[in-house]
Amino acid sequence: MFPSFSLRYAQLPARMSAECDPTPVAAPRLVAFNHALAGELGFDAAAFDAGEAAEALSGNAPPAGSAPLAMAYAGHQFGNFVPRLGDGRALLLGEVIDRGGQLRELQLKGAGRTPFSRGGDGRAPLGPVLREYLVSEAMHALGIPTTRALAAVTTGERVLRRLPEPGAVLTRVAGSHLRVGTFQYFAARRDVEAIQLLADMAIERHYPHLEPLSGGGRYLALLEAVIARQAELVARWMGVGFIHGVMNTDNTTISGETLDYGPCAFMDVFEPRTVFSSIDERGRYAFSNQPHSAQWNLARFAETLLSLLDDDHERAVALATDAIEAFPEHFEASWGAVKRAKLGLSKAEEGDEALAQELLDAMQAGHADYTLTFRRLADVLDVREGESDGREGPVSDSGEARLVELFDSPEAITAWLSRWRDRLAREDADAEAIAARLRATNPAVIPRNHLVEQALTAAIEHDDFGPFEALLAVVTRPFEAPDEGEVDYTRPPEANERVLRTFCGT
Ligand code: AMP
Ligand code: MG
Repeated sequence: MFPSFSLRYAQLPARMSAECDPTPVAAPRLVAFNHALAGELGFDAAAFDAGEAAEALSGNAPPAGSAPLAMAYAGHQFGNFVPRLGDGRALLLGEVIDRGGQLRELQLKGAGRTPFSRGGDGRAPLGPVLREYLVSEAMHALGIPTTRALAAVTTGERVLRRLPEPGAVLTRVAGSHLRVGTFQYFAARRDVEAIQLLADMAIERHYPHLEPLSGGGRYLALLEAVIARQAELVARWMGVGFIHGVMNTDNTTISGETLDYGPCAFMDVFEPRTVFSSIDERGRYAFSNQPHSAQWNLARFAETLLSLLDDDHERAVALATDAIEAFPEHFEASWGAVKRAKLGLSKAEEGDEALAQELLDAMQAGHADYTLTFRRLADVLDVREGESDGREGPVSDSGEARLVELFDSPEAITAWLSRWRDRLAREDADAEAIAARLRATNPAVIPRNHLVEQALTAAIEHDDFGPFEALLAVVTRPFEAPDEGEVDYTRPPEANERVLRTFCGT
């Protein structure tokens, strides 16, 4: 049932990882399996067997041909450098070649202690495993580069956190798990050979168009490409109101995939200073600080590459500095494009930036829901009322009324709508076409914190995976208005449902 493994990371010099077997668990049970992703990865669907999958993906019987290892990495956590982190509870099984010919890494998260576990138990509680499953799959469906979730297996064992919780193992899939922190681990040890091997692996896997380059130019081009990709990634996060929550350098990928769904959450009401993570006391990783945090992390990446950029240290620093200073430009270009698309604008005009900012300001002042405001822009244009997000409000309400009701008071948004309509008049598309474009860009459904929390609680406390499965089904089709049912997946939380704090789940 498993595709065959290649062991490219395992073939790197021994000092770059630690071979390590998973620690068996008492009673593995497959509680989620991503058949679509499995197909993409070359699994044999006809040979699928839930019992065998549970044994393999709990780590009790690792799949044939895999060679589990823990990767070495370091990282800046909230600005403090930790020279040795590494996979303390994750094991890389190896890579498979997917149906598109791309290498994809399979990792078991929560499979037991490793040489990098420090004081930790190497385990993962069920709640955080399901959260990562839901949110990473939602991100993928939203078109945002991310690691994926292939499976979740409960272990039949309890893990002790604040209280004892059911344990679980997540199978995570990534183009690679190369992080800024992977480079930092070797830079801190002045291991230039390892850094060059990592850089070459990154180019081969994620930036193959740079292959023909050689010498310092090759690694400068890598740095610039990673900067551009991270800038675009953060812009895309912000387009859906995503707050990563723990943008440490060990959670910043070289591939530009979103990695580490610990305390992450989506914003409901638009407020740029929003922070959910319980450990982010100073708001370092608040919504609107994310571009700055990414640039800071990329500067740490640049430092690890200096010896490859130029033999002359000062010249290398100058090259790296120029590259890092270009980050804001990359970010603004991406964020501008994201905002234009969210307003239904297909070509750029001078005043677009201001128009977008005025809407954000109105949302912030009027405590409007970020997702629904953008989603209902389509309703304002549309003849088919009441369709964008399901049921909300009587059908007789005009689309405009349904948007305006999201704001504390109507003045600012009503005035803004008239400016927006004037701008749309200069688009080469009719209202219906723009509405269709808007509905394909602005999701109806995001994994709202309170719904995620409810789904997790049902699974943890009642062994009821129904709410998890139902939520997964709608957040993985985020641009469709969900069918009416018991749960309204589109609406923001009521005051008493709001989840204001999220936890790392480590
Ligand atoms: P994270 O907060 O998941 O990014 O993890 C930061 C570091 O702590 C990484 O080195 C993890 O492998 C390690 N870690 C997190 N949770 C555990 C755990 N339960 N057992 C061992 N190591 C852990
Ligand atoms: Mg992490």
